Order: sequence, then structure tokens, then C-alpha cells
Amino acid sequence: MEAGRQIVSATARFKWIFLGILFLVITVYAIIDLTQGENPVSLVIKWLLLLAVSGGVVELGFRQVNKLQNQLGKMAGASEQKARHKDVILQLNSRLAASMDEAEICRIAVDTLQNSLGYKKFSLYLSDPVTGAQTHYGTWNEASANLSSRQAATNEPTRVYAPLRRGSQTLGGLVIESPPDSVITLEEETNSIHAIADQIALAIANARLFSSLRLQQTSAETRQEELRQRERYHSLLNFITRAALQNRDYQAMLQTLTEHLGRLYDAESCVLALWDEVHEHPIPMAASGPLRQVARTLQFESAELGMMSNALNTGKALVVQEANMSLYVSPRLSAQLQARSLITLPLVADQQKLGVAILAFEKQRTFDEDEIASGEQAASQIALALAKVNALNTAQQKAHELAALQRGAAALLSTLDLEALLGQFLDESMSAIPADKGMLHLVAPETGELQIRAMHGYTDPRIRPLKPIAENSLTARAVRERKPLLVNDIQADTALNHHDDDLPDERQAASTIIAPLTLGSQTLGAISLSSYRRHAFSETDLQLLVSFAAMATTAINNAQLHAAVQKQAVTDTLTKLYNRRGLFDLAQREVMRAHRFQHPLCAMLLDIDHFKQINDTHGHQVGDQILAGVSTEFTKTLRQVDLVGRYGGDEFIALLPETDLPQAMAIAERLRKSVSEMTFNTPTTQVKITISVGVAVLGKEDTLETLIKNTDLALYRAKEKGRNVVGE
Ligand code: GH3
Ligand code: MG
Repeated sequence: MEAGRQIVSATARFKWIFLGILFLVITVYAIIDLTQGENPVSLVIKWLLLLAVSGGVVELGFRQVNKLQNQLGKMAGASEQKARHKDVILQLNSRLAASMDEAEICRIAVDTLQNSLGYKKFSLYLSDPVTGAQTHYGTWNEASANLSSRQAATNEPTRVYAPLRRGSQTLGGLVIESPPDSVITLEEETNSIHAIADQIALAIANARLFSSLRLQQTSAETRQEELRQRERYHSLLNFITRAALQNRDYQAMLQTLTEHLGRLYDAESCVLALWDEVHEHPIPMAASGPLRQVARTLQFESAELGMMSNALNTGKALVVQEANMSLYVSPRLSAQLQARSLITLPLVADQQKLGVAILAFEKQRTFDEDEIASGEQAASQIALALAKVNALNTAQQKAHELAALQRGAAALLSTLDLEALLGQFLDESMSAIPADKGMLHLVAPETGELQIRAMHGYTDPRIRPLKPIAENSLTARAVRERKPLLVNDIQADTALNHHDDDLPDERQAASTIIAPLTLGSQTLGAISLSSYRRHAFSETDLQLLVSFAAMATTAINNAQLHAAVQKQAVTDTLTKLYNRRGLFDLAQREVMRAHRFQHPLCAMLLDIDHFKQINDTHGHQVGDQILAGVSTEFTKTLRQVDLVGRYGGDEFIALLPETDLPQAMAIAERLRKSVSEMTFNTPTTQVKITISVGVAVLGKEDTLETLIKNTDLALYRAKEKGRNVVGE
């Protein structure tokens, strides 16, 4: 445009110079004609005419030139603009080629239209291929009017509409308001805008193609992943069926199932708990991942119990997407599992609630319907396997229990020896009902106290048989109430306040079953089995223990009676000391032991002085009272290992193992003295007595008979000395 204007002013200058020269030439010709004598008047007329004609011709000519020049200038401007448009289109082309994103493409187009081509008012919009909704870019937003022709008034701006088209599809449109001073023709501008629109359409179509390809690729990958998942799922189901059929080791089977299930879901850990339907309580059995070693000690709180019951009652998987926010997961378990998301699968077969599997994920995640459905299917397959194994185990357990009961009965019938019988009874009970520890208590007839009579699994040396147990122990309670007792969690049951504190052991029992041994109205004692594990025993176990107890009670009673009869045969009824027979049996053994080990052994014969006279004076009854009182004094004064018995009438024999003569003399003297200090109260008076003692030591050649004979001689000497004397 500027170049055109310069040409116009230069042409104007040249026109005036040319007119000046023409004026000069005509004037010079007129002067020459005047000098040659031309008529001045006609010459002036001719001169003026010539000036007018040539001036007019020149003006016309220059006007034409000006017009041409103007046209040339316009053409130059237009070609300049066209060239710029072409450049911009090329640049746009390369910029658009670098992007595969629709929004980015539109931003580039807007930038080009605004900054490179200088359009102020334009709209670029895209239609969504599915919904048809339009997205607007550009500087102006009422675009879609289909305006493709110049407005009527020439000073109005022009709107050009170019659709963004790819094949038969319209992707959107471009509406541009072109400035009124545009130097290029409407057609050219329209062409250029259409070219730009085509570029944009091509780029958008490419971007859409690219994203649909990417989508296809992703969906192909997803399908492949689904196939892989399905394959893993089928191999798990296969495994479950096989595991159930083989059924070598229940615990190992549960462990492997748990690990397979965890792997199927890529879970960080999987916990499998069996469900105790009676107590509505889970029993953790196996875990995969970091909790594997501690699986069986896992504890669930009421939150988890709610989650498990819910899954079991509905028979559907229960998803917890954010463990920290869920009422179904206690903070303790979520910390232990390090889980953000959880899925709990119910293990239900034939309407039996067998257990639950909890899958835990460190990262938060969602589960689609397919995943949940296949998880539920896997869980029901596991449940079927468990049900089958349970049925088998129950049958095996029943057979085992029956065999144990038969063995127990045989053992009980085979012996009348109480100690052997109690030991065997406890052993058989523990082989029928697996437990860590077992104990058998009997009520001591003399004191009424419960005493430990047999035990199994206790290692602490402080636990001694015959030790009475505390009144508030669980066993004492079972005996007092004459009721069997099942305690699932001893520690948790604070109401019990029991603890068999008098039974220290390195590990406290966690659960126990106790059956009292009742016979008619009599309670003989109790048998108790305990485990370090909570919930180790079932109601069935308790019933079996009660059957064992019922079977054992009669046998124990018989053995106790038998023992009593046997004891009676060797006991003196008045003094409760060994009678002559009992004393001689045991004394023979002591003599043999002393000879074999060459250990000292002394014997003493103790005789009440003038007993006949006491009988005569105070009566036989007082005599009996004195015999019993003296006997008690002897037992009290002598050691546990010493043997003491009634030899006959008012004569007693004591055998003192590991005792030499001087020691025996001292002991005899002590006895003599303590008896002489005794006072016996009769209804009428107080009686005092004395004894004489003969002491003898076992010689190498002595027998029991010669030893007793020697004590008799020593006693004779003591009596000779005036009674109330110890003699040797
Ligand atoms: P010594 O000092 O010499 O021993 O005189 P003693 O009277 O004790 O001796 P003796 O052997 O003559 O008397 C024993 C008496 O013991 C005779 C008998 O009446 C009495 N006796 C024996 N068995 C019993 C018994 O079971 N109960 C009572 N009350 N007396 C008995
Ligand atoms: Mg006497």
C-alpha cells in the first residue's frame, strides 16, 4: 500500500514537469511561427488551442496511468497478504502436526488466527462426535451462524464461515469476522480461511483417531489382563478342588488356599478365619504375607466381627474402600494389616457359615463387579472344600473318639491300682481330645480338699501331686457346682477371677474344659484339659470329656474302695497304726534294704507301764483312749520314713531306717519323756502314764525276728530298772 502511494505522488510530479515542457515547446513553436510572420491573432488562438488540447490529452493519459498504478499497488498488497497467509498456513500446519490433543490444537489455531493473522473477532468450535455438544474457543462466542457472504454495506466487516470437515463428517466450524479494509478479495480470504479450517479439521481428526487407537490399545491390554486374571482364577479353582481331594494336612491346606487367594487378587495379605457358629466367633487359621507367622494369634475386635457377620449373613463380599474411615475395621487391625482397602469374602456352603477370607491392600482400590463375582465364586469353592474336609474330619474324629473311649474303658477295667488308673485315664482323655495340658483332681477323703492326683503337660517342678488347690479355681468351681465347664478365653473372662494361681506354669492356659467326677450324690473330683490357644475346645469336646468322666468315676470309686479294703487289712482299727501283719511286711523290706546298702537300722519296742492296772482302775475305755493317744504321739514324734505299728496289747514297735544306736536311744528317750508329760482326761479324773522302751540296732547277722527279740530283751532290762526307762 505504501509503495502504491509513493508511485502515485511521483507520477503527479512527472505530470506537471511534462505539462511544463509541453507548454514550453508549444510556446517556442508559436514564437518561431510569429517570427516567420504568422498572424498573431490566429497564432494566439492556435497556441491556446494547442495548449488546451495537449494539456487535456496529458491529463487524460496521466489519469489512466494513475488508475493503472493504483491497481498495481492493490495487487502488490494482496499478493503480500496472500503470501503471508500461505506462510501462516504452512507454519500452522507444522505446529498442528506436533500435537495430538484437541484442546492444544485449538489453542494453536486461536494463537495463529489472533497473533499471526491479526483477526480480532472469530470463533472456533468443535462438536462432540457422540453428544454433539459444542466446545468454543476463540475470542467470540456466538459463532455458529452460517454467514458466508459479505454484508450488504461495504463499510461493514465481513463474516466468513468455514466448516471443519473430514470426509462427510463435520467436526466443528470456524467463523471469522474479517476487517473491512482487507486488501484481498473475499474469495481469496474465504479460500485462505477454508484452508486454515481444513488444517484444523485434519489435525482434530488425527487427534481423534490417535486417541481412539490409544483407547483400543488400552482396551486390548485390559482384555488381555482380564484373560490372565481368568486363567489365574481357573487355576485357583483347580487347585482348591485338588487340595480338597488330597486333604493331607488341614492346616497346610488352609495355608495354601489363603496364599492362592491372596495371589489371585494381588493382595498384600490374606487372612483366613474359620467361623464358630455357636459362639459367633472367628478362629484365625492362616494368613499370607507378613502376618503368616502370627496368623493364629490374630485378634479381631467387634468392628471386624460386624464385618464378618455381615458378609456371612448376606453371603456376599463386603468391600471396605478406606479402612481408616470404616466402622468395619478397627484401627488395630488396619495397622496390623497395613491396609487401606479390604474385601471380605464369606465362606458359606450348604448354608453353613464356615469362615471368612479377608484380603487386604496397602493402596486404596476399587473392585469391579466381575472381580467381586469371581471372588465370591472362589470363596464358595473354598467353602465347599472346607465343608467336605470338615465332614471327613468329623467322621474321623468320631471314629477316633470311639476308639479312645474303648481304650479308656479297657484301661479302667484292667487295673484296681488307683494311681495307675488315674494316669491312664488322663492319657486316654488327652489322646481323644487334643490339649496342651491335663490334670486330674480327687477329693481327699480325710480333709475334703481337692488334690492333684495325675497330670500331663506340666513342667513346673513346684506343681506336686497331692497338693490341695485353691477354693476359687475353675476346677474347684466345677466340683462345687457339679457341672461341666467350658471356658473359651480364660484371660478375657474377668468375671471368673479364678486363675489356678497355685499352679504356676511357664505358660498360662488360654482355654479349658472341666468335667466333674460325680457318683450319685458324691463328687470324687474332676478332670480338666487346657490349651494355650483360645477357643481350643468345642461343646462336643466337653461332652466327650463328660462321657470319659462318667465312665471313669465308677472305676475310680472301685479302686478307691479296693485301696481302702487293702489298707484296712494292714491297719489296726483302734490306733490307725499298722497292725502286726502290715508292720511285718514293711519291716521285712526295711531290713533287706539296710543289709543291701549296709545302712544302719534300729528298732524299738515300746510298752506302757502297768497298763493292766490302768485298765483295772479306770476301765477299758480309758485304756483304749490311752492306746490311741500314745499312738498319735508316736506318729507325731517320729519321722515320715519311720515305721510304727501295734505289736500287740500295749506293745508298739518302731523301725528307724538310716539311724544308728545312739540316735535311736535319743529318739526313744524323747518319746519316753513326751509320753510321761501327757495327761489323759477321764470323766472323773486325770490319768498320767509312762512307757518303757527297749532299743536294738540291726547287726550283720540279724533278721527281723532276732532284731525284735533283741528289743524285747532290752525292754525287759528297762522294766527291770524300774520302768519309765529306755534300755538297750
Ligand atoms: P508291765 O508294766 O510289766 O508292762 O505291766 P502291764 O500291766 O502293762 O503288763 P501286762 O502284759 O500284764 O498287761 C497288759 C494289759 O494290757 C493286759 C490287757 O488287759 C491290756 N490290754 C491288752 N489289749 C488291750 C486293749 O486293746 N485295750 C485295753 N484297754 N487294754 C488292753
Ligand atoms: Mg505293759
